[in-house]
Amino acid sequence: MEAPDVEIRRSLRRRRTVTAFRENGRIVVCLPSRLSKAEERRWVQVMLDRLAAQEKRRRPSDEGLLARAGGLSRKYLGGRATPTSVRWSSTQRARWGSCTPSDGSIRLSSRLQGLPTWVIDYVLVHELAHLLVNDHGPEFWALVGTYPRAERARGFLDGYSHAAGAAPSGDADETGDGDEDDVAEVAAT
Ligand SMILES: [Zn+2]
Repeated sequence: MEAPDVEIRRSLRRRRTVTAFRENGRIVVCLPSRLSKAEERRWVQVMLDRLAAQEKRRRPSDEGLLARAGGLSRKYLGGRATPTSVRWSSTQRARWGSCTPSDGSIRLSSRLQGLPTWVIDYVLVHELAHLLVNDHGPEFWALVGTYPRAERARGFLDGYSHAAGAAPSGDADETGDGDEDDVAEVAAT
């Protein structure tokens, strides 16, 4: 496996926490400045492992997505939306997700892979709601609104599209902040 491109940032202000995140294709690890070189090596490995585990959780298989969608339908839509398949799609550049109500299939843009689980869940709930309501009318948004982080996820996706220079989602029309869930952080002491 190729060694990841890692940038170490030491901070005098940072006292007790180690943080790792991806930035422009490299992994940034922020460490308290007082750590020794040996401690630095140890913490970088800990954080790389943690980030890898986190990113793996965020790339569920198609079967994992279908199970996840079923759970979300039960939890937020009374189980009324019954998807038959949920797949990653690499051909959707302009949209985060799409569905075909007649056969119950849902496709998620592979651009979502690696984004926080609660954002992916929002896109799933959105497409599940479209299996029940085709348009973006009040009935549709009432269904989507049962997902507690719907507004925040729309803001996240809109901000993410702008940051990545991608076409904004037709459905995401709000601006929002980033999210702390994007970062692996542990106390170093
Ligand atoms: Zn929609």
